Amino acid sequence: MQKELNLRLPAQDLSRDQQIKAHIAKALTLHPDKITGFNILKKSMDARQKQIYYNLTLLVYIDEPFQAFSIPKFPAKEVHRAAHEVLIIGAGPAGLYAALTCLEHGIRPVILERGKDVQQRRRDLAALNKQGTVNPDSNYCFGEGGAGTYSDGKLYTRSKKRGSIQKALETFVQYGAEPAILYEAHPHIGTNKLTAIITNMREAIIAKGGQIHFNQKITDFTLKGGQITAVQTQKGDRFNAQHVILATGHSARDIYRLLKAKNIHIESKPFALGVRIEHPQSLINQIQYKCSAEQMVSQGLAPAAYSLVAQVADRGIFSFCMCPGGIIAPAATDPGELVVNGWSPSKRNNPYANSGMVVQVDQRAAYDYLKRQYPAAGCPDPDDPLLLMDFQRRVEQVMFQAGGGAFKAPAQRLPDFVHHKKSRDLPACSYIPGVTSARLDQLLPDFTTQTLAGGLQVFGQKMKGYFTDQAILVGTESRTSSPVRIPREEKGLNHPQITNLYPAAEGAGYAGGIISAAIDGTNIAATIAGKLGLSNQ
Ligand SMILES: Cc1cc2nc3c(=O)[nH]c(=O)nc-3n(C[C@H](O)[C@H](O)[C@H](O)COP(=O)(O)OP(=O)(O)OC[C@H]3O[C@@H](n4cnc5c(N)ncnc54)[C@H](O)[C@@H]3O)c2cc1C
Repeated sequence: MQKELNLRLPAQDLSRDQQIKAHIAKALTLHPDKITGFNILKKSMDARQKQIYYNLTLLVYIDEPFQAFSIPKFPAKEVHRAAHEVLIIGAGPAGLYAALTCLEHGIRPVILERGKDVQQRRRDLAALNKQGTVNPDSNYCFGEGGAGTYSDGKLYTRSKKRGSIQKALETFVQYGAEPAILYEAHPHIGTNKLTAIITNMREAIIAKGGQIHFNQKITDFTLKGGQITAVQTQKGDRFNAQHVILATGHSARDIYRLLKAKNIHIESKPFALGVRIEHPQSLINQIQYKCSAEQMVSQGLAPAAYSLVAQVADRGIFSFCMCPGGIIAPAATDPGELVVNGWSPSKRNNPYANSGMVVQVDQRAAYDYLKRQYPAAGCPDPDDPLLLMDFQRRVEQVMFQAGGGAFKAPAQRLPDFVHHKKSRDLPACSYIPGVTSARLDQLLPDFTTQTLAGGLQVFGQKMKGYFTDQAILVGTESRTSSPVRIPREEKGLNHPQITNLYPAAEGAGYAGGIISAAIDGTNIAATIAGKLGLSNQ
């Protein structure tokens, strides 16, 4: 017999199967010998009190042979000679999952990626961190695996509507992720493991007859009769197009400019901008778990995370992409602009806890800021679809200047930011290019500073100890989501003007994060297969 069971266990009882079995036996009033095994269906932590608990949903096997869950393998067809081909621009999660879905339906995916493969990309990241130089085609945002490759690899999404989260996670497991991501409430992979998983995906795509072309930045499209007939790359190569999935992510400003120049309709999209905040991880552990470091170890607790949100006056502020045990990364894509983000290894074992702390930005606020700060540039067009992108770029340039070059970042202690003071010195910080003490409160747009200052005080009340001079703010967290939306038909998922162009995922404004981008890529490839009559083959 099999039985589904919800259990609540003290954290320290989770480390051994025998202990879990004893709890199951007690809950089901059975002799432990009758339990042949169990699979975990869901696992979440409850750290609201001093004693930390795990809530588990289990599938228990009683008096019958135990069967461990087997991970489904999604079928991939041989496509070397397939009749249909899809061009996929961008090898981020959306592009890779679109390619894998094409294989399921017998369509040949051809990925064109401006950056390098994951191994070669590492050298450009080292140059960014250590020499302060950025390669505009190979950095934390661009290259194989996309922006998600050198990340924390958090795999949770707030979206439940867009498609199968389970299938997206199972695909990660198929290519090498730990099966635990299938039941953890807050699964994550870690930078060190993501690169191998992405390599496995690439090898699987190529083995079946798909193609991946690196160092191929798309710079133009040929349009005829409301369709893209070919795409051109910077190298001068031309790829004929039957269907084009545009999965270029939120940092491909050249693509937005190209679409605008070609009169292909795009819209501005509100996004969020602010700083990255970093605390000692030990402090966040203490606040969240209310126990000592030794107790943490004895209970087998992972470095603690947090998620904060508040409304200050009429503007929202929220923590974004929190990385326990992480490192602040230079995520700029162009020289002269400063962008930060965060990543962490699978063990999350660095001594810092960092998180984006960002404020919502709308067209009106960006317009007012640009008009006031850059009068010499002339009055901005309030309806320009690239206005929010320009705002984002300008703030990033201000931050680069203030850091003093070579991607050193302007930084301020948290209380100094709120009390409008320059920090005399700065605490240790994980950001490798280095930090420079600066008045972030003056460098950021005033509405951002006001909302951040108000919100950080609210968060200090919600999490006692969070508002501390051990916390450092680093500028600027500006690539939270796309400042541009590329419209598409609700059902067909193609652009309303260009029937074979499929704007995808984060860069088009339909996803935020690895999993939702992967799901969007999957949905688009499946939709194309449906249009080709291949969906059930
Ligand atoms: C440092 C960092 C940490 C992050 N941490 C997390 C996390 O822990 N969890 C999470 O869910 N999300 C995280 N994110 C966000 C996540 O990476 C993105 O949401 C996700 O990658 C978006 O997927 P995408 O496929 O839409 O676009 P992207 O991943 O941005 O991929 C777009 C691809 O298109 C390519 N491209 C761009 N322009 C062109 C062109 N003209 N021609 C050819 N190719 C082009 C780029 O090189 C890139 O590879 C993080 C991002 C960063 C930068």
